[in-house]
Parts: sequence; structure tokens; C-alpha cells
Amino acid sequence: MKAILFLILFPCLALAQAPVLESKIHDKNRPLPPLVEARPYAELKTRAPAGAQIVFDGGRLDGFRKGRWTVKDGFFQADKVNGKGPGSLVTKQAFGDGQVHLEWAVEKSGAGNSGIYLHGLYEVQVFNSYRNATRIYADGQAGAIYGQYPPKVNACRPQGEWEVFDIHFTGPRFKEDGRLKTPARMTVEHNGHVIHDDVPLTGPSSHHKRPPYKVMPEKVPFMLQDHGNPVMYRNIWVLEKPSR
Ligand code: MG
Repeated sequence: MKAILFLILFPCLALAQAPVLESKIHDKNRPLPPLVEARPYAELKTRAPAGAQIVFDGGRLDGFRKGRWTVKDGFFQADKVNGKGPGSLVTKQAFGDGQVHLEWAVEKSGAGNSGIYLHGLYEVQVFNSYRNATRIYADGQAGAIYGQYPPKVNACRPQGEWEVFDIHFTGPRFKEDGRLKTPARMTVEHNGHVIHDDVPLTGPSSHHKRPPYKVMPEKVPFMLQDHGNPVMYRNIWVLEKPSR
């Protein structure tokens, strides 16, 4: 019996496809996630655990290349220079599966706009959605897997306060012929609330489209997006899982 089941299931597993979502991308009629209270900082595990790789701990921006963000008092910010943004930041190091911890904030007015792109492709949205004061489609809210999944709840703090993300990321796997073997998956916590629970991604993030996967290595740098807003980041570390 087991052998028969294996024979039936194996071709399905081997040909696993990217999920196709029924929801329309950026649907303005999609209900916004329910509001919840952010958990107090004291309850959040923000300190890098043993074995974690420190990307930014308040000092220099040595962990990144490309963008020219300004380091301030324990954080760094996307300040404009001569009216131009500083460019997106890309980590020097490539990362595989594991947990990325980061904290971000926007200024006291406005919602900001940025994002962390795991593998440089899969965006978790950085945008202040406190009490839905700034209207945006559900799959573009704070913590949304942009264009794919709205957060399950809206756990944002007010503008000017630090938001805490813990992203548990499993990259996609590809067969030798380039076809997708297994899609990327994410579990995300925002201020101590699980806002995505092991969801499979349709492919890279994009505006108004859901592009297909493209073959990538298992370890890739991540990116912090310069989207023309003075967003801030601090306390960034990665705890990689052993390779599988
Ligand atoms: Mg964004």
C-alpha cells in the first residue's frame, strides 16, 4: 500500500508548482486585516542569539554594499542627498534559509515606504499602517508579502516608534532543468504577532503583477529598498538554518 501511495504522490511532489492565488493583486475592496495591539518591547526577543550573524548593530554599515544611507544614533536612515535617494542597500553576505530579525521605523508624519527583499526578490512590506490611517490595499500594508498576502492582523505601532519583524524564510528549490521543485515559504512575526504562517510564495514580488520564479542559488544577499522615503532601520541579524 505504501509503495502504491508513493507512486501516486511522488510525481505530484516532484512537479510541485508555484501556488496560484485567487485574490486579485492590490484589490482595494479586499478587507483590511483586523487591528491588534503590538506586544511590548520587553516581551520580544530582539537580541541576537548565539550563532546569529550580525548585519547591523548600531555601528558602521559594513554589512551592506551599494546604497549610501546615513548612520545616526544606533540606526541608519534613507536620507536624500541633493534631492536623490541613497539607493537600495544590499547585504555583502549571501544568506540561505533561516530567520532575519530587523527593526524599522518611519518619521512621525507619513507612512514611509520601503521593504525587505529576501533573496533580493521576495518583499515583506515596510509601510506604517497604524490604525489604517494611511489607506493602502491590504496586500501592501505593513508586513504584507507584497502583492500576495496581506498580514493576518495589523500590529503596527504609531509613526516614529520602532516596529519589529522576525522573518522565517525558506528559499525556493529548483530542479536541474530549472523547473520549480518547491516554492519559497515565509512565516513572519510583526511586533510579536504571527502575521504569516508558513505561506508559499507565488514567486518574486512586483507591483501589479506576480512574476514567475527564476532560478537562483540557495544563498543570496537580501535588500533594503530605497523607495524615496526617509525610513530607518536598526538591529539586524540573521540566524541561518543548517543547509538541507
Ligand atoms: Mg515597499
